[in-house]
Amino acid sequence: MAARLLDGTRIAADIRTELIARVEACTLAAQRPPTLGILLVGDDPASEVYVNTKSKAGDALGLKVDVVRLPKTATLDKAKEVVCRFNRSQNHDGILVQAPLPSALGTIAEQTLFEAIDPMKDVDGFHPINFGRLAQGRSVFAPCTPSGILELLDRSCINLKGQRAVVIGRSQIVGKPVALMLLHRHATVTVCHSQTRDLPALARDADILIAALGRPAFVTSEFVKPGATVIDVGVNRLVDETIVKSLLPLGSPRLQTFARRGSLLVGDVHPAVSETAGALTPVPGGVGPLTVAMLMVNTVRAAEMSLGQAVQYRG
Ligand code: NAP
Repeated sequence: MAARLLDGTRIAADIRTELIARVEACTLAAQRPPTLGILLVGDDPASEVYVNTKSKAGDALGLKVDVVRLPKTATLDKAKEVVCRFNRSQNHDGILVQAPLPSALGTIAEQTLFEAIDPMKDVDGFHPINFGRLAQGRSVFAPCTPSGILELLDRSCINLKGQRAVVIGRSQIVGKPVALMLLHRHATVTVCHSQTRDLPALARDADILIAALGRPAFVTSEFVKPGATVIDVGVNRLVDETIVKSLLPLGSPRLQTFARRGSLLVGDVHPAVSETAGALTPVPGGVGPLTVAMLMVNTVRAAEMSLGQAVQYRG
């Protein structure tokens, strides 16, 4: 039987609708809309798309999104200056540094800039103080993709308590924080990575399987216990027709999408897993929209705190 599709687009729309009254209240109290400052360095096309998506989502909600662009030749000091300006500004509630940064800035550039952000404006939740708070189960700003995954599970009425969760991927932005969040919600969590032995067998033990590894269609039915909930975080753009045809059944409407656009977005989970899983997030339309919705939530929370509302710690 085909898995229940967990509709991230619909859930993200619900979250945005619930935010409208809070945005209006902040705007009235501050006499300006909640404002997110984004630093975009260089001309990475995917980053351009992500920043545009975030700007549009903000505009639609009545937030202000202030994007500062620097050329890829900019120095790390120059980028840090922008972050410090956002920190000092009374008109910016949240700050985000769009990753990845140009490689010319050096390997520690991302971490340097994330650490330069005022933790109370750190709406991506990547500052070590916010990561530490998350690890302690009292987060102020948790990273948006893991927060979105938890919202999606909760709003789809998927029980976490006592469940076995397997997370494939241990990155700072997805794997590690989502594992901590699942742990705080009383799941029994196993975190896997590129050196994990017997990955399919470990994954097959999961009631909830989170795939966040960045390998197109890597997670096949062999990894999935029948009836399990599978969350596909991966976003991979395929341009090779042979590969696309090998993944999709003949007659799939997605083949027409590929023919029209010349590329196709696929997750880390093989499409055929829908025959084994009990519930599955689609790509696109699963975790992606929730990431943006949770950025909006964090920005509104930052605005509320800058208006003097008490800090609310979350698990
Ligand atoms: P990342 O930083 O590259 O981390 C990938 C993780 O996967 C690493 O921990 C790596 O292990 C592990 N891994 C790689 N190959 C593996 C293999 N063959 N077997 C087991 N583990 C393996 O990636 P990320 O930033 O977490 O992103 C993961 C995916 O999610 C990407 O496709 C990305 O585009 C997508 N993403 C989507 C959203 C969204 O909003 N939908 C947001 C963020 C990311 P090691 O640590 O051992 O190297």
